Amino acid sequence: MSTCKVCNEPAPLYGVTDFNKSCEERRGRYLPLTGVPVYYNRCDACGLIFTTAFDHWSKADYLQHIYNDDYVLVDPDYIDSRPTGNAAFILDFIKKGQGLRCLDYGGGNGTLTSLLGEGGVDGHSWDPMDEEGVPPSGSFDFISAFEVLEHTPEPLATVREALGLLNGRGVLLFSTLTIDHVSPRGMDNWYIAPRNGHITLYTRRSLQAMFAGLGYRIHHFNDNLHMALKEDPDWLS
Ligand SMILES: [Zn+2]
Repeated sequence: MSTCKVCNEPAPLYGVTDFNKSCEERRGRYLPLTGVPVYYNRCDACGLIFTTAFDHWSKADYLQHIYNDDYVLVDPDYIDSRPTGNAAFILDFIKKGQGLRCLDYGGGNGTLTSLLGEGGVDGHSWDPMDEEGVPPSGSFDFISAFEVLEHTPEPLATVREALGLLNGRGVLLFSTLTIDHVSPRGMDNWYIAPRNGHITLYTRRSLQAMFAGLGYRIHHFNDNLHMALKEDPDWLS
């Protein structure tokens, strides 16, 4: 038994999988098993699925075991195709804004921000996993966080940090796949993948609980794309 990292309600054990289970298994690509079991819990109240297996890990541990040279094997889209698609989406999404200050939170190699810059956007990038990066200063009108929240062992702290970088009428646009309908033994779900660093999996209810607790309302475009804000800015109409 554990306690939900979002709503503090009881979260019994949900299932167990091998550390090497990755998202690429849905494309038929399997890594050899490591023999290291990773248990996940599920909140009885909000449905959050999470593991506590990495709660004691340092940044160096994550870089050694997950975000290492082999990470590209389990997430081949992160190098190029995902940033390219996301940049095009953002340029359209913010097209009514004038001179918006934008941050890509969890921006990895900075590709998305470079592409935004080519599109004339005042874009900045910061990744909490970057050992040498300095957290950005000031506040932002628009923050994107693509495929970030499922990677954090501390969802509340991560979201609080990201929202803390927004100004009063700022918008956080983020992606993470919500899995509201899982079976009582749903560990085969492709998104539950420790090798990808997918250690916190959300439901719409858990996202709503988390953002409401921080004073934000949330809008779901679909199961994967969401937006949090307090007040609609003029450019978002
Ligand atoms: Zn919960």
